[in-house]
Amino acid sequence: NGGPNDAKNLKVKLVVLGSSGVGKSCIVLRFVRGQFDPTSKVTVGASFLSQTIALQDSTTVKFEIWDTAGQERYAALAPLYYRGAAVAIVVYDITNPESFAKAQYWIKELLKHGSPEIVMALVGNKADLHEKREVPVQDGIDCAEKNGMFFIETSAKTSDNINQLFEEIAKRLPRPDS
Ligand code: GDP
Ligand code: MG
Repeated sequence: NGGPNDAKNLKVKLVVLGSSGVGKSCIVLRFVRGQFDPTSKVTVGASFLSQTIALQDSTTVKFEIWDTAGQERYAALAPLYYRGAAVAIVVYDITNPESFAKAQYWIKELLKHGSPEIVMALVGNKADLHEKREVPVQDGIDCAEKNGMFFIETSAKTSDNINQLFEEIAKRLPRPDS
């Protein structure tokens, strides 16, 4: 019927969570604008961007992306963004074990308070900094598997796996009956 949420055209609310500095905003800007700005500003509160992708089966998915601020003082606001979200991307930095611990906190929050059908992705970003890696790939894989999430390592800097991240999410979305 061509409406905004028929089987062929999905519109989904997506929230990006994770510690400050892991590259959440850079991932979103790489996906939406194809750019990487190494001097990008710290996100205050949250910012909103949208991007539509076409899948091979001619479905389109419009992502309405809430890029949250990772700072502690905004933590109380996070539920406003993840409540009702169809998708949550939890990001950590592969060079920063603390950010991986924080990712596990966000996963618990989502499992407790998120929508039961939420599609969750665990993302190890800054994969280009492999010489400084401190979180083994296997730790990410294990954590994701344990929590029923999709896992991928990305680099917003080189754009490695950024489009794949969103394509894989799109494939996992529940489809409305047509
Ligand atoms: P946010 O606080 O999670 O939104 O993090 P930002 O997107 O603002 O990025 C924080 C810092 O990490 C910035 O200096 C970015 O240039 C840098 N950064 C983000 N993604 C990558 C990446 O994939 N590789 C590298 N090397 N640096 C990155
Ligand atoms: Mg940010």
